[in-house]
Amino acid sequence: MSFDLNSLLPPHIRELKPYVSARDDYPGNDTPAVFLDANELPGPMQGMPSGINRYPGKEAVILKEQIAAVKELESDRVFLGNGSDEIIDLLMRCFARQGQDSIMIFPPAFGMYAVRAAANNLKVEEVPLDAGFTIDVRAALAATGPQTRLIFVCHPNNPSGNAQQVETIRRIAREFNGLVVVDEAYIDFCPEKSLLPVLRSHPNLVVLQTFSKAWGLAGARVGVAFASAAITGVLKKAGFPYNVGSPALKLAGEALNRHAEYRLNLIRLRRLRDELGSRLREMPLVEKVYPSDANFLLVKTRDAGLVYRHLAKLGVVVRNRDNEAGCKGCLRITVGSATENERLIRSWEILGKNPQKARRKAAPETAGEGRVQKTEPPRESIIRRKTSETDITLRLNLDGKGEANIQSGIGFLDHMLQQIARHGLIDLEVDARGDLEVDLHHSIEDIGICLGSALKQALGDKAGIERYGFELPMDDSRARVLIDLGGRNYLSWDASFSATEVGGIPASLFRHFFRSLAEAASCNLHVEASGDDDHHQIEAIFKAFARALRMAKSKNTSGIMPSTKGRL
Ligand SMILES: *Cc1c(COP(=O)(O)O)cnc(C)c1O
Repeated sequence: MSFDLNSLLPPHIRELKPYVSARDDYPGNDTPAVFLDANELPGPMQGMPSGINRYPGKEAVILKEQIAAVKELESDRVFLGNGSDEIIDLLMRCFARQGQDSIMIFPPAFGMYAVRAAANNLKVEEVPLDAGFTIDVRAALAATGPQTRLIFVCHPNNPSGNAQQVETIRRIAREFNGLVVVDEAYIDFCPEKSLLPVLRSHPNLVVLQTFSKAWGLAGARVGVAFASAAITGVLKKAGFPYNVGSPALKLAGEALNRHAEYRLNLIRLRRLRDELGSRLREMPLVEKVYPSDANFLLVKTRDAGLVYRHLAKLGVVVRNRDNEAGCKGCLRITVGSATENERLIRSWEILGKNPQKARRKAAPETAGEGRVQKTEPPRESIIRRKTSETDITLRLNLDGKGEANIQSGIGFLDHMLQQIARHGLIDLEVDARGDLEVDLHHSIEDIGICLGSALKQALGDKAGIERYGFELPMDDSRARVLIDLGGRNYLSWDASFSATEVGGIPASLFRHFFRSLAEAASCNLHVEASGDDDHHQIEAIFKAFARALRMAKSKNTSGIMPSTKGRL
């Protein structure tokens, strides 16, 4: 390994003296300062964010430190860009000589690399991926020459969706003397494959990540490069001083603090991706859906142009990748929400049928003409509860379709929570890690608390809800659950089980679960059940609870508070 950063730098970059910003000179002291150094206005216009009249300063430092803490790296290994696109361009400007040097890419690759290379007058060496979209390392290394300055590895790859083997990339980094730029824009969807943990072992490695994809901030334009302090130092001195605005920096920091929602989004998107993949396989003209480590799918069809135009006519926009290397017939499709994916499928299904009729069928339901559709705020909530015993993230949509994605670590409880979702017509996602090796008690209690808190939060001010629910006998066992979402908590429990354990859970914990739930949700619950089979009895209680909740949470059109007191 003979990587030498200095020898890689074009002389004008090596000798470049950075721009010194107005505030770089002033270290700060105890006396409150007045800043008359940067020709800013003394204050912002009315209603504008406070501090926006100043150039960004500490916001960038704070975000870098926050990112460094999350990624367990030193903050001088972090560089922020106006999207990772800016960093891609900056790397080329800093580490390659225009008109002489080249970059290497592995087509089909992200189009930005070639465009920025062209903009910087650099040649592009192409080493195509094989049929499975993996890198041929030997061909790649053999194709490098002294003029090859940067190798771009898109990992997971856009547009194919797959990640490379970590060892493949490490080998390239060991055996190549230029920079290896690993673009991890989609790594959040397969975090175990990130190169970040080995960053310290490879002085020529640059890892790019972004807030544009899994963090939901494409509009903010914040990208991140991780590299040695020597490399980030070059980027810093050659790049623009205030390249990311303070509102964007603040939003990125806030996003990082919403880790629970981020994690649930990833779980949900991976599930939606896999569901969408299986459905796409059944669509007309589809030949293959490639495996994906990202939030999109590459789909090989018999006629990409035809499918593309058909979908576009119906207002469903996907990306036609027909002309990319190794992508004949391919469309790249982002995984959307369940509703958006459904629209894609419904539109695709009718391909080849009467287009007029097809259009009508696939069009989204629109409100009656001239009528203003009143949109209710969504009744959703997210709870993250972390103690020394459990770490639980729970998301709930009271007006869902009964979809559940539950990972509590306790199979039987997963099954019961699915009953609540299904029969309550609630979308429920639970990701719980508890000290199950110690006892099930903590997990069950805490999941009960989280579910109760989520219900309470999602119900909001409760205007227009039915408030009460009840349920009648069901199945061979009988269970009756009465509920009042009025705001006081009370549990009456009349059920007993012949076994001490049901589904691997101590029978006494079921009562405990509903007590925790009722307390956290501030609701009245009256539970009665009887029957010979404990398993059925418990399942009946969960189902009856779900049905009672479904009645009580449902909205009538009155908007009236279901209490003579005028509030709940
Ligand atoms: C979307 C994407 C990016 C993100 O670019 P930003 O400028 O950070 O929005 C980077 N690389 C690849 C491969 C992408 O698909």
